[in-house]
Amino acid sequence: MVKLDDYERIIGRERVEAIRELAAPLEGVAVQHINSAAVGGGVAEILKRLVPLMEDVGLVPRWDVLRGTNEFFSITKTFHNAFHGQPVEINEWMFETYREVSRQNFDLLDAAADFVILHDQQPLGLAELRPDHSGHWVWYCHIDPVDVDRRLWEFLKNYATRCDGAIYHLYEYVKELGKRVYVMPPAIDPLSEKNREVDEEERRTVLERLEVPGDLPLVVQVSRFDRLKDPMGVIRSFRMVREQVPCRLVLAGGGAGDDPEGSQVLEEVRQEADGDPGIMILELSPTADLEINVLQRTAAVVVQKSVREGFGLTVTEAMWKGRPLVAAPVGGIRIQVLHEETGLAASGDEAVAGAVVRMLRNPELAASMGRAGREMVRRNFIIPVYLERWIGMLAAERRLTC
Ligand code: UDP
Repeated sequence: MVKLDDYERIIGRERVEAIRELAAPLEGVAVQHINSAAVGGGVAEILKRLVPLMEDVGLVPRWDVLRGTNEFFSITKTFHNAFHGQPVEINEWMFETYREVSRQNFDLLDAAADFVILHDQQPLGLAELRPDHSGHWVWYCHIDPVDVDRRLWEFLKNYATRCDGAIYHLYEYVKELGKRVYVMPPAIDPLSEKNREVDEEERRTVLERLEVPGDLPLVVQVSRFDRLKDPMGVIRSFRMVREQVPCRLVLAGGGAGDDPEGSQVLEEVRQEADGDPGIMILELSPTADLEINVLQRTAAVVVQKSVREGFGLTVTEAMWKGRPLVAAPVGGIRIQVLHEETGLAASGDEAVAGAVVRMLRNPELAASMGRAGREMVRRNFIIPVYLERWIGMLAAERRLTC
């Protein structure tokens, strides 16, 4: 099981000790996390690493997963889309089913928990129990709620206001609830398969398996095949870049099989590429962590040309690997890619192409931005630092209510 000491070589002995010291007054404090999936998705990914680390510093964490029906999850998927401002139909039957499933999960609740953390909107209905529970309740909103559907928000707000506070990834995502507010962006785990160091032999083996040639510099975007990631725009930009600097494009992503829209976008991307030998479209399996690691590590430039982004963990992952970034300044990318410092911010096809050319022609500039990016991630967006923020939040919440 992962231990805080494992991160000593990344954050230093002193920081590890400081985190332990900060956690000492919380020894024995019981924290119950409730989310809606044991695997798959960013929240599960984070909890998998955070829970053992919390335990390692003396807290008593527990992680429970909401039991939902297919109907419930298709409703919360609709809610998810409505959070992103997509025009979806929300009706009373959905609310009733949500309430019913929430009530069927009341027994999940640990009556003795000092903290109950509800991750995202799926388990938020449990907040109905808040008045009968003596612990602190916090809702953690892991997505961008700025354009949330008004009717849905009126419904969920009733639950969110029963909590003592809420956590968001960015300041601009904060919703007015009249409750305490915490801002905690997510983090990556530098020791996971997706981010760990890879030696040269292993890197080559993986590239061979993916049939990625090593003759030209690679421009890489790793993302689900989703229009909001603008894969077509990446292809258009790449074609402009290639006229000036020889290079190849890799568009890598997965999850298209069970997502009809994903398959459709993938098909459109293939048509746009039109068999161009300079463009590699890699459909990855959901377990292709090492492949993503290697592609990000091998990239001469990593692009993230998103139209919208919650936080943008692919950016964090690439920056951790010291890669130069050209990314659109949207959502959480804005606090990661600081223009001319930790990467280049660019949105339109031509602007992205120009920035990529600049990086490819200036390896020193690219390397120095890559170094700055890695340092920014090391200081802000890795799991032991995230743990430290959690401890700070839990301690503040206790102090404020004592
Ligand atoms: N990812 C993956 N396989 C893929 C595409 C993406 O494992 O085919 C991972 C990626 O490495 C990152 C996460 O999924 O860890 C995507 O998070 P991000 O915040 O970038 O975007 P989202 O998909 O949540 O919009």
